Amino acid sequence: MNNRILNKKVSIIGSGFVGSTIAYSLMMKNLANEIVLIDLNEQLSRAETLDIRHGIPYMGVSNIHSGVYSDIKDSDLIIITAGRNRKPNETRLQMAADNVLILKKVCDEINKYYNTGVILVVTNPIDVAVKKVSEWVSLPRGMVFGTGCILDSSRLTNAVADYLELSPEVVNAQVVGEHGSSQVTVWSKLTIAGMPISDYCKTVGKPFDRSIKTKLSRAVVDMGTTIIKGKGKTHYGIATCVCYIADAILNRRATIITVSIPLIGEYGLKDVSVSVPCVVSTNGVTMIIEDSFSKNEMMLLKESADKVKGVLANL
Ligand code: NAD
Repeated sequence: MNNRILNKKVSIIGSGFVGSTIAYSLMMKNLANEIVLIDLNEQLSRAETLDIRHGIPYMGVSNIHSGVYSDIKDSDLIIITAGRNRKPNETRLQMAADNVLILKKVCDEINKYYNTGVILVVTNPIDVAVKKVSEWVSLPRGMVFGTGCILDSSRLTNAVADYLELSPEVVNAQVVGEHGSSQVTVWSKLTIAGMPISDYCKTVGKPFDRSIKTKLSRAVVDMGTTIIKGKGKTHYGIATCVCYIADAILNRRATIITVSIPLIGEYGLKDVSVSVPCVVSTNGVTMIIEDSFSKNEMMLLKESADKVKGVLANL
């Protein structure tokens, strides 16, 4: 399985803001040989494809085209972005009922034509979406997962870097749990150039107390809402996160990130999908890393998972 020849073909289901921005980013990074954009609104996927394809030749050399569900055949990566977007005063979990109906239809179509490839879910609420998609498209464990808290980890990295007036490259930060308001910042593992953040702050004389942590975590939780209030959607940040995951899958560049995966006892959690640190490579999530978080972080992770479970139970 690990040595199978990769077509570097990516199918994107949903050609709205998120799907088309992912296609554009994949193209600019030359990560795929072939990109297919699929949407119920075929006029939209055709138009997005033309717009992306008509950039300067050789800036992005992927063969990009619009298609229908049968075109997912032979994909190494199938990305699901179909689903409605969040309103300014809505939580992600409040979209569950609407988007689960859409995802059921998407999975029915995938099941008709699927022959290979990892399925990456981007549609919100991501943790609910991953759990349902993994039930409806039964593939070996790890082949279906969701972007989850990779975006929040990226936002946290930037927020911490800004606070410390450093480049984000030296910050290693993880957010776990729900991709939503109950997410958990893993302060106990956050490092600056390999040094625990509390040691770094002590060394350079920078305040790092509970109020600073709360302020930084809060800013990350509220980031999506802040952006949606300003422009009605978010799509650039998630597209770069998807490119990073696509690189790991298509180019066998195994990485460790926090993504949403159905759990079967890891961290004491089961029957739920939330983000935890995972090894991601060509076959999707190949290992869940059971790190030793602090007691408080473990408690918050459980609460976060329980919140997602509550939504799943009410669907
Ligand atoms: P959008 O409304 O611009 O696009 C959604 C597209 O899905 C539409 O073009 C629609 O026609 C299509 N669609 C609906 N049902 C379909 C089906 N059965 N088959 C194929 N296509 C179908 O929305 P968007 O801004 O692109 O957001 C898409 C989703 O991504 C939302 O759920 C949003 O919340 C989510 N999102 C997730 C993250 C993340 O971090 N995971 C970040 C941003 C947005």
